[in-house]
Amino acid sequence: MRIAIGQMWQESNTFNRNLTRWSDFENWGIAVGPDIFEKYGQTGEIGGVLSGLRQWPEPPRELIGLARFTCWPWGAVESATAKRIFETFDEQLRIAGPLDAVCLVLHGAMAAEDEPDLSGALLERVRAKVGPDVPIVATFDLHANLTRRMLSNADLLCGYHTAPHLDSWQTGERAVRGLWKILKRGVQPQTVWRKLPMFTAAEYHNTFTGPPAPIYERLKQLEAEDDVLAANVAMVMPWFDAPQLGWTVMLTTSRRESRWEQTVDQLCSTCWSIRHELEAVDRLPPAEVVKRALAIGKHPIVIGDGADATNSGAPGDSTCLLRELLAAIKIPHGALTFMVDPVAVAEAYRVGVGGVFDADVGGRLAPEYSSPVRVRGVVEKLQNVEWILTGHISKNLPVNMGRGAIVRSGDVQILLVERGGPGSSPRLYESVGLDPRTCGIVVAKSPSGFRADYDPFVAGSLLADCPGCASPHWNEMRFDKITRPLWPLNSLATPNEANWCESGWVN
Ligand SMILES: [Zn+2]
Repeated sequence: MRIAIGQMWQESNTFNRNLTRWSDFENWGIAVGPDIFEKYGQTGEIGGVLSGLRQWPEPPRELIGLARFTCWPWGAVESATAKRIFETFDEQLRIAGPLDAVCLVLHGAMAAEDEPDLSGALLERVRAKVGPDVPIVATFDLHANLTRRMLSNADLLCGYHTAPHLDSWQTGERAVRGLWKILKRGVQPQTVWRKLPMFTAAEYHNTFTGPPAPIYERLKQLEAEDDVLAANVAMVMPWFDAPQLGWTVMLTTSRRESRWEQTVDQLCSTCWSIRHELEAVDRLPPAEVVKRALAIGKHPIVIGDGADATNSGAPGDSTCLLRELLAAIKIPHGALTFMVDPVAVAEAYRVGVGGVFDADVGGRLAPEYSSPVRVRGVVEKLQNVEWILTGHISKNLPVNMGRGAIVRSGDVQILLVERGGPGSSPRLYESVGLDPRTCGIVVAKSPSGFRADYDPFVAGSLLADCPGCASPHWNEMRFDKITRPLWPLNSLATPNEANWCESGWVN
């Protein structure tokens, strides 16, 4: 048995004006052929797929690495880069020869300049190459915007069941458990789905403690049934200007039965009913959030800056919070934040450790949301920011955010980095010797996922309300490509008022 495995994973924030280029994928490690297993065989979904295949009663004899393209959330993918990624998959499929199945690790909210559905486009391309009889299974992020193209070109799609995303590995395992049923038991997967005309802010997309928790509990129960190959609810990522943007509920079973249609309808009703609760997030303006953090009198306090969340594809260079931290007269135990700013990093390297840093920081990558702030301080450390992410979003994922510099200005230590990366993990700071566990205030550039890694040790958490390309101020964002009506941009009492939403069994 010959099974091919590949990955094309990125969340694209189409409101981030900076395109994702080939070099960005190179920084996160492009791999083709057996290199995928050697370098990333223990990482995230690929690790889960391999682990799941080893658990088969008869593990497949031959695994074929196609290509691995991963990049941290950022702007839409440059067209030429997307074309090159596809050509790499084409070439690897040609080299691979006849296959018994294909497993792909996708995101589902990945767009190119001229293609709003890169995940669907890749599935369609792979389907065209392998033909209709070779099963294709794929994984996706819980924030995917699932499309008919994805569903009709894959036999089985399995999404994360957790937010914060702590199950990337398990999602890979679930996908190949389903594949085993298809290949060994002859199950012909049948998928029933329904799009919902809604999107919601990410802060309360918490499947453990938030309003969606019972929905995901139900999905786990459903997948425990032998007839169910996958049960998914994708709470779409909202900073994604694409046709038919919206939540998706889907169920893949071994038989077409009306009870599954009813199950999808029930899940849809629950999703629709919690939409107001998900939008009612308590956020504080930048000056207020810093004041409140100082008033708590305990430490550390983590402030989530969702609008500049590198985890949601924002550039990570907003100065709105930094400005307020620098303006604070005293921050007991100090504050930690990070900024993506290659120009400021270069300046820190120019003046060297111990040198006086007197330069503009931030506000360069998304000048429409914040302007540079003058930072006067001392360069404390220069170090490459390379570490391994385990926690929200992945397991054993090598992270390389380029050169880094710690600049201290009063009570604030700013970690300047050349490139974006996980803003949700305390490991970012720890990797350069900073201690988010003993500081007064620490900034996480993440709307919600940071809770998995910070909650175990922080004394409190607050959410900032800043401008940015991952902000929840929907009316200030220019959506051109979405299909309307769409809640909350349009008032809708029931999902049926939006006649564009597809539903039913997929062929
Ligand atoms: Zn996600």
